[in-house]
Amino acid sequence: MKSYRKELWFNTPHRRDFINITPQVNQCLLESGIREGLVLVNAMHITASVFINDDESGLHRDFETWLEKLAPEKPHSQYHHNTFEDNADAHMKRQVMGREVVVAVTGGQLDFGPWEQIFYGEFDGKRRKRVLVKIIGE
Ligand code: ZN
Repeated sequence: MKSYRKELWFNTPHRRDFINITPQVNQCLLESGIREGLVLVNAMHITASVFINDDESGLHRDFETWLEKLAPEKPHSQYHHNTFEDNADAHMKRQVMGREVVVAVTGGQLDFGPWEQIFYGEFDGKRRKRVLVKIIGE
Protein backbone atom coordinates (compact mmCIF):
# COMPACT_ATOMS: atom_id res chain seq x y z
CA MET A 1 0.00 0.00 0.00
CA LYS A 2 1.18 3.50 -0.84
CA SER A 3 0.59 6.53 1.32
CA TYR A 4 0.90 10.27 0.62
CA ARG A 5 0.66 13.29 2.92
CA LYS A 6 0.59 17.01 2.17
CA GLU A 7 -0.42 20.20 3.99
CA LEU A 8 -2.21 22.93 2.02
CA TRP A 9 -1.82 26.46 3.45
CA PHE A 10 -4.39 29.25 3.36
CA ASN A 11 -4.45 32.88 4.49
CA THR A 12 -7.84 34.31 3.58
CA PRO A 13 -8.31 38.10 3.24
CA HIS A 14 -11.63 37.95 5.14
CA ARG A 15 -12.73 36.49 8.45
CA ARG A 16 -15.01 34.09 6.55
CA ASP A 17 -14.42 32.56 3.11
CA PHE A 18 -15.23 29.47 1.09
CA ILE A 19 -12.50 28.24 -1.27
CA ASN A 20 -12.86 25.44 -3.83
CA ILE A 21 -9.80 23.28 -3.15
CA THR A 22 -10.70 20.48 -5.60
CA PRO A 23 -7.84 21.46 -8.00
CA GLN A 24 -5.26 21.23 -5.16
CA VAL A 25 -6.62 17.86 -4.02
CA ASN A 26 -6.53 16.60 -7.62
CA GLN A 27 -2.89 17.76 -7.84
CA CYS A 28 -2.11 15.79 -4.64
CA LEU A 29 -3.74 12.70 -6.13
CA LEU A 30 -1.63 13.08 -9.27
CA GLU A 31 1.57 13.47 -7.20
CA SER A 32 0.68 10.42 -5.09
CA GLY A 33 0.45 8.10 -8.11
CA ILE A 34 -2.36 6.26 -6.30
CA ARG A 35 -5.11 4.90 -8.60
CA GLU A 36 -7.33 2.96 -6.17
CA GLY A 37 -7.85 4.06 -2.56
CA LEU A 38 -9.15 6.84 -0.35
CA VAL A 39 -8.42 10.55 0.08
CA LEU A 40 -8.94 12.18 3.47
CA VAL A 41 -9.02 15.99 3.51
CA ASN A 42 -9.37 17.69 6.91
CA ALA A 43 -9.05 21.15 8.39
CA MET A 44 -6.19 21.23 10.92
CA HIS A 45 -7.85 24.05 12.90
CA ILE A 46 -10.98 24.05 15.07
CA THR A 47 -12.36 27.24 13.45
CA ALA A 48 -12.28 25.99 9.84
CA SER A 49 -14.07 23.25 7.87
CA VAL A 50 -13.62 21.01 4.88
CA PHE A 51 -16.88 20.02 3.22
CA ILE A 52 -18.33 18.84 -0.09
CA ASN A 53 -21.05 20.69 -1.94
CA ASP A 54 -21.89 22.62 -5.11
CA ASP A 55 -19.61 25.37 -6.47
CA GLU A 56 -22.47 27.86 -6.79
CA SER A 57 -22.02 31.40 -5.46
CA GLY A 58 -25.68 31.86 -4.44
CA LEU A 59 -25.49 28.73 -2.32
CA HIS A 60 -22.31 30.00 -0.67
CA ARG A 61 -24.08 33.26 0.23
CA ASP A 62 -26.95 31.17 1.61
CA PHE A 63 -24.50 29.18 3.77
CA GLU A 64 -23.07 32.46 5.11
CA THR A 65 -26.55 33.83 5.96
CA TRP A 66 -27.67 30.55 7.54
CA LEU A 67 -24.51 30.21 9.64
CA GLU A 68 -24.81 33.82 10.81
CA LYS A 69 -28.37 33.10 11.98
CA LEU A 70 -27.23 29.98 13.85
CA ALA A 71 -24.14 31.52 15.42
CA PRO A 72 -23.91 35.29 14.82
CA GLU A 73 -20.39 36.68 15.11
CA LYS A 74 -21.53 39.75 17.08
CA PRO A 75 -21.95 40.78 19.77
CA HIS A 76 -18.79 38.95 20.80
CA SER A 77 -19.88 39.26 24.45
CA GLN A 78 -22.80 36.82 23.94
CA TYR A 79 -20.40 33.84 24.12
CA HIS A 80 -18.74 32.36 27.23
CA HIS A 81 -15.73 31.39 25.07
CA ASN A 82 -14.98 35.01 24.21
CA THR A 83 -13.10 36.02 27.32
CA PHE A 84 -9.62 35.99 25.73
CA GLU A 85 -10.77 35.39 22.12
CA ASP A 86 -13.53 36.64 19.81
CA ASN A 87 -14.04 33.49 17.75
CA ALA A 88 -16.73 31.44 19.52
CA ASP A 89 -18.97 31.83 16.46
CA ALA A 90 -16.19 30.37 14.27
CA HIS A 91 -15.93 27.24 16.47
CA MET A 92 -19.70 26.74 16.14
CA LYS A 93 -19.80 27.35 12.38
CA ARG A 94 -17.01 24.83 11.94
CA GLN A 95 -18.92 22.28 14.02
CA VAL A 96 -21.94 22.58 11.73
CA MET A 97 -19.97 22.50 8.45
CA GLY A 98 -17.73 19.61 9.52
CA ARG A 99 -14.06 18.83 9.96
CA GLU A 100 -13.23 16.53 7.03
CA VAL A 101 -14.27 14.67 3.92
CA VAL A 102 -13.30 11.27 2.57
CA VAL A 103 -13.46 10.67 -1.19
CA ALA A 104 -13.00 7.37 -3.01
CA VAL A 105 -10.23 7.17 -5.60
CA THR A 106 -11.15 5.07 -8.63
CA GLY A 107 -9.01 4.76 -11.74
CA GLY A 108 -6.77 7.61 -10.52
CA GLN A 109 -9.73 10.04 -10.23
CA LEU A 110 -11.74 11.52 -7.36
CA ASP A 111 -14.93 9.42 -7.54
CA PHE A 112 -17.47 12.26 -7.06
CA GLY A 113 -21.24 12.29 -7.37
CA PRO A 114 -22.86 14.93 -9.60
CA TRP A 115 -21.63 18.51 -8.90
CA GLU A 116 -19.58 17.49 -5.87
CA GLN A 117 -16.60 19.76 -5.15
CA ILE A 118 -14.36 20.03 -2.07
CA PHE A 119 -14.32 23.33 -0.15
CA TYR A 120 -12.24 24.88 2.57
CA GLY A 121 -14.57 26.84 4.87
CA GLU A 122 -12.79 29.55 6.83
CA PHE A 123 -14.59 31.11 9.81
CA ASP A 124 -11.73 32.92 11.56
CA GLY A 125 -9.32 33.87 8.80
CA LYS A 126 -6.75 36.56 8.03
CA ARG A 127 -4.01 34.25 9.33
CA ARG A 128 -2.10 31.22 8.05
CA LYS A 129 -3.99 27.96 8.49
CA ARG A 130 -3.63 24.43 7.15
CA VAL A 131 -5.55 21.59 5.55
CA LEU A 132 -4.21 18.02 5.64
CA VAL A 133 -4.47 15.77 2.59
CA LYS A 134 -3.81 12.08 3.25
CA ILE A 135 -4.12 9.52 0.47
CA ILE A 136 -3.81 5.76 0.93
CA GLY A 137 -4.15 3.00 -1.63
CA GLU A 138 -2.24 1.53 -4.53
ZN1 ZN B 1 -11.46 30.06 20.24
